[in-house]
Amino acid sequence: MASVTFDKATRCFPGMAHPAVCDLDLAIADGEFMVLVGPSGCGKSTSLRMLAGLEEVDRGSIRIGDQEVTHLPPKDRDIAMVFQNYALYPHMTTAANMGFALKMARMPKDRMRERVREAAAILDLQDYLDRKPKSLSGGQRQRVAMGRAIVREPQVFLMDEPLSNLDAKLRVQTRTQIAVLQRRLGTTTVYVTHDQVEAMTMGDRLAVMKDGLLQQVGTPKEVFAHPANTFVAGFIGSPAMNLFRLPITADGVRLGSLTLALPHDTLRAAGTGGATELTLGVRPERFEALSPEDLETPGLDLVVDAVEDTGSVAYLHTTAKLGQDLVPVVVRLPGRPTHGKGDALRVAVRPDAVHCFSAATGLRLPDTAPAE
Ligand code: ATP
Repeated sequence: MASVTFDKATRCFPGMAHPAVCDLDLAIADGEFMVLVGPSGCGKSTSLRMLAGLEEVDRGSIRIGDQEVTHLPPKDRDIAMVFQNYALYPHMTTAANMGFALKMARMPKDRMRERVREAAAILDLQDYLDRKPKSLSGGQRQRVAMGRAIVREPQVFLMDEPLSNLDAKLRVQTRTQIAVLQRRLGTTTVYVTHDQVEAMTMGDRLAVMKDGLLQQVGTPKEVFAHPANTFVAGFIGSPAMNLFRLPITADGVRLGSLTLALPHDTLRAAGTGGATELTLGVRPERFEALSPEDLETPGLDLVVDAVEDTGSVAYLHTTAKLGQDLVPVVVRLPGRPTHGKGDALRVAVRPDAVHCFSAATGLRLPDTAPAE
């Protein structure tokens, strides 16, 4: 096992306006499960491929443990990769697929069989060792691909969207299995996904990327509670955080008829460069519905456009009028929905449950640390 360090690693493809990955600085600890997450095209697969040696590094360097691997061929990096399409050999059995890399490395047959047997036991594949991929389910194929990585006992596992070919239910099951397996083996793992729920539930830490640039690195809890900018705020959390651009008043901001007093430092930073607005973030679950009879309590007035009833919580897709603008707002309320399309609703939010960002730069403003 080993740590992984990206040091200003950069990859520029010809013809692209900006690097696919730009000055990536990321230190992954020995044994850590790090998830690279971001929307399509943000550079996460390129980062992983640079670490695997499948993509050139134009500037900067990459280390695995103490060894600089920036320009080493993939076979000399002691890594094992699990791809989205599994890349199993169709004519080989499960056992042969799992043992293939060991055979190539000329491992003695007995040891190879033992390693395959052990990995099959871990992955619950003992009964499928003689089957070929076409007679395995999607989930079983995925486990064979994992098995092929495990038997090599590499220093680092690299996984590129390994669950994307599975149906929704199997994805949920398998993501738990992979996370449990990683902890059991203790192998440093770098895992790429565009799915923020996968990132939040699987990783020890996540690295959020956009347009080739690292936006934030932290534990799921840290990133959720303190998103570094409006991009991370909108990307992590489902449904997404509501973001409102609001005029700054003497002591805070007004959201509908609600006055939210904000810390002095927040307001001072928000006003940097003469800015008169800030971006206020409210997660859907942080709104509280006011009682319909209570028209005295200040709040934000909403009109319900659509209701999603999941059984345990209701998501209300609504519209608010802020100044002259009609703004979409998502509210999550516990229990079964009591509102329908076209209904009016007034919600409130506590000042310590909001996130504040600079309207100019999108960066998080100081002293806004809501307890999520
Ligand atoms: P996805 O989730 O869609 O796979 P990603 O975040 O993994 O996206 P990358 O595959 O790393 O993104 O691509 C980053 C950027 O680099 C994209 O704009 C992509 O079009 C570009 N890119 C990737 N590979 C190449 C290549 N071989 N040649 C030219 N451009 C490339």
